Amino acid sequence: MADRKKEKTLVLIKPDGVQRGLIGEIIKRYERTGLKLVALKMVVPTDEMVEKHYLIDPQWKIKAGQKSIESYKKKGLQPPSNNPEEIGERVLNSLKKYLASGPVIAMVFEGINAVGIVRKITGSTEPLSSDVGTIRGDFTIDSYEVADVDNRAVRNLIHASGSSEEAEKEINIWFQPEEIINYRLINESILYDVNLDGILE
Ligand code: GDP
Ligand code: MG
Repeated sequence: MADRKKEKTLVLIKPDGVQRGLIGEIIKRYERTGLKLVALKMVVPTDEMVEKHYLIDPQWKIKAGQKSIESYKKKGLQPPSNNPEEIGERVLNSLKKYLASGPVIAMVFEGINAVGIVRKITGSTEPLSSDVGTIRGDFTIDSYEVADVDNRAVRNLIHASGSSEEAEKEINIWFQPEEIINYRLINESILYDVNLDGILE
């Protein structure tokens, strides 16, 4: 089994997060969990990068469309289409406009359960339904309904990888291998060491 302590996940602070002055607040929330920040940069994405990024998972369009349709139905609303692929295609086009509109912060966090912990702190996709206490739940207000009427992507501050396999491929799009720093954090001893005999003097 791969070293669980080396699990990596990609986080993007999308242009709305940068414009809202939330870079520090967002990094703080991930950093304080104990996960290790191993790469960080500011970049203005191209349409091609955005398309490559979302189409890593061939099922992404359908899954994104399904998630949206379910959310409409749960609220007793009529989705703009009942065809998940159609919604997914529209979302992809609007994501290019959204993400390529200005600088984003790209980061890689590493540690045990990095993917799951980061998704939990980020919150679910639609800010209207994201839990209180999550970044999307606490710092923004968008919904599928409002975004779809205006034909734009839901503005939810963050991208976070959905699985470890996805993360690996996504990291390759945003970072060169030498930009990922291999280093030790003092904190890791208390998170991971089996033997804690060295604490008391
Ligand atoms: P995530 O993994 O939680 O970011 O969600 P997805 O991978 O399903 O979707 C990617 C991004 O597309 C989301 O973060 C939103 O910005 C946007 N998005 C997803 N679904 C919809 C939708 O149904 N309508 C609109 N307008 N935007 C969406
Ligand atoms: Mg996703």
